[in-house]
Amino acid sequence: MSVDITSVMGMNTSQPPYLASDPMGASALPNKHLLGIEGLNRPTITSLLDRANQFADLPAREQLSHLKGITVFTIFFENSTRTRVSFDLAARKMGASVVNVPVATSSIKKGESLIDTAVTLNAMHPDILVMRHHNSGASLLLSKYVNAAVINAGDGRHEHPTQALLDALTIRRRVGYIEGLNIAICGDIANSRVARSNIHLLSILGANIRVISPTTLVPTHITEMGVELYHDMEEGLQGTDIVMLLRLQQERMQGAETPSQREYFRRYGLTREKLSLANPKALIMHPGPMNRGVEISSELADDVERSLITAQVEMGVAIRMACLEALAFGLTKPDQRNMK
Ligand code: ASP
Ligand code: ASP
Repeated sequence: MSVDITSVMGMNTSQPPYLASDPMGASALPNKHLLGIEGLNRPTITSLLDRANQFADLPAREQLSHLKGITVFTIFFENSTRTRVSFDLAARKMGASVVNVPVATSSIKKGESLIDTAVTLNAMHPDILVMRHHNSGASLLLSKYVNAAVINAGDGRHEHPTQALLDALTIRRRVGYIEGLNIAICGDIANSRVARSNIHLLSILGANIRVISPTTLVPTHITEMGVELYHDMEEGLQGTDIVMLLRLQQERMQGAETPSQREYFRRYGLTREKLSLANPKALIMHPGPMNRGVEISSELADDVERSLITAQVEMGVAIRMACLEALAFGLTKPDQRNMK
């Protein structure tokens, strides 16, 4: 297949040489939307990671124009700093126009339904809608009512696909590969969309996954996702290459799922002593925001040798550039685009 993407996109062709030499380097997504990792296959994931890897190597101030003429709306019903900022930055770096829809001050908070909101936003013809919502399945619902491509930036306890992709990119850049790694995902699995997206993605890429969690914070059928389950952290950490910690999602808990934070830290907080049970060079990850002294000791959180936490944030922009691009290339037909 030879499609001239530059003409399809109406892009200016003066791209930096490393990208211009590879106009087909853009990956494409099989579906119009990015609602979850579940259902994606290995080649799709790998090509998104390869593309994001190129973006991650660009000089910090590089400005591209691949998405010139594309309008991205971000709409966040839950608080977010890093995810929203990184989508915003990613879209601008690609040359798109960005509108951050202010949920808190808009009619949405005044009781308008998600569907009414969707129809209203749709009337403004965004090309891509990036949404975070407290209900699992909200982005799927949105996608049924809009013409825009929808990116799920976190829906309830369901999925947070770009987080899992950025985690994989971070591991790949640090370790070099993912296949065969022993990865422990620890903490509040039940309430974590990051855990679900990561379990899907890391298993597609061939990692061995175990989850370490108190019985109250993990669904028992989790093992049906092909992971090993441990309730004892000391036991679960043995032989692991990566320890991925999750925040205790108090806002999604119903009652007494956890004992005191102090007791949680004693049993499930990562300390240097517990980490010494993992493989000698085991690396630490956390999607943020982290609670020091609850999921992780402050000392380890700042250990630049072992912690990938800052790298994760950094990779967020590159991953979101690749995802926005992949959706944009699958968007409208050229003749429709020219009408806008
Ligand atoms: N939960 C948020 C996230 O997705 C936290 C933040 O944005 O700071 O990253
Ligand atoms: N930032 C991640 C999320 O939005 C993790 C978290 O909030 O704990 O799911």
